[in-house]
Amino acid sequence: MTLPFLEKVLQVLAQGGFSATYKYAVLLGLIDLCVEAGHPPTSITTAQLARRVVELYWPQVRPFPATRGVLRQNRGSLGKIAELILAYRQSCPDLISPPRLAPTAPAGFEALLANVEWKLVEMPLPRLQRVGGGEERFIYEINWQEGVPEGRFRRYRHGDGSAFDNRILFQPGAAESLVAFSAVIRPLVQQQWSVMVRSMNGLREAELDAFLFGVERIALGALQRPLRALQGGRCFYCAGPLTTGPSEVDHFLPWSRYPDDGLDNLVLAHDSCNLKKLHFLADLDFGRRWHQRSLDDSSRLDAIAGATRWARDRERSFGVVASVYQGVPDGVRLWCGGDRLRRVDVGDLSEVHGFGRSLLSPQKAG
Ligand SMILES: [Zn+2]
Repeated sequence: MTLPFLEKVLQVLAQGGFSATYKYAVLLGLIDLCVEAGHPPTSITTAQLARRVVELYWPQVRPFPATRGVLRQNRGSLGKIAELILAYRQSCPDLISPPRLAPTAPAGFEALLANVEWKLVEMPLPRLQRVGGGEERFIYEINWQEGVPEGRFRRYRHGDGSAFDNRILFQPGAAESLVAFSAVIRPLVQQQWSVMVRSMNGLREAELDAFLFGVERIALGALQRPLRALQGGRCFYCAGPLTTGPSEVDHFLPWSRYPDDGLDNLVLAHDSCNLKKLHFLADLDFGRRWHQRSLDDSSRLDAIAGATRWARDRERSFGVVASVYQGVPDGVRLWCGGDRLRRVDVGDLSEVHGFGRSLLSPQKAG
């Protein structure tokens, strides 16, 4: 990882050639897919990116409370991608989070993914790495140019793999850098995205950030009861009875590291334990227990996900935890409960890097 990489990302963010928020969505999508993979990938596909971009815009096309309207993501209009997602959300109002598994998704979801994918292929992907007068493909290489005919893309979408190469090939070290710098780049991109939306919509509201990128706190409350039952009425961290005080649904991997709202990343804990954990990464004992819960209680977690219509993607949650623990520097302090922190050698964390490998076996589920 090199500092020049980060500087080039800053230049991409600063360039004014975009009339919509797409470049932010593409950057965040690339980071998320690299982090989720568990280890930095050599390439991803435009189809994967489209799915992730749909998830990013999904909460943003809700009506914004202060104006009761849907926010513009483009100068003078909603923006094509937001329009597509809004139309889909309106066609299935019961969906809280975007479907993860295509076979069970309501009709039209595949078409939505295809249309969003085309929008990304057409414009932001060929343009993203153009800074100033020139272009430097320092993040990824693609095998098409701006102006690629839609017919070629549609033929590929209809199963003709030779019509269009859908790979986004990372430059050597680029995926590693995106993972290593994600804690720096993500908030920067989110902040600039907010600034652009604010200016497009003439807003000043401070609550905009929380609306665009925050977790819906009210919705998390729906998980209190089922998680309490799953954990036998005990705090995930201190194992004390939850009857002794208020409890809260906690993101096992802190939200500030990666915004994973998947059920596997959520545990129920005392408010007091939660407050002490803050943004620290939990120690190995907790990590083991967390990993084991997703394996042993998988069918109960499926039942909770079904009953609450909560998204569950165990593979992603494992991948994210593995990536983030791999990225921590030597001597990092992990939270071991209460006020206790412990310094660890990165070598001790190799066990966490293996989370998710167990899922690569043939009976992969959930
Ligand atoms: Zn506790």
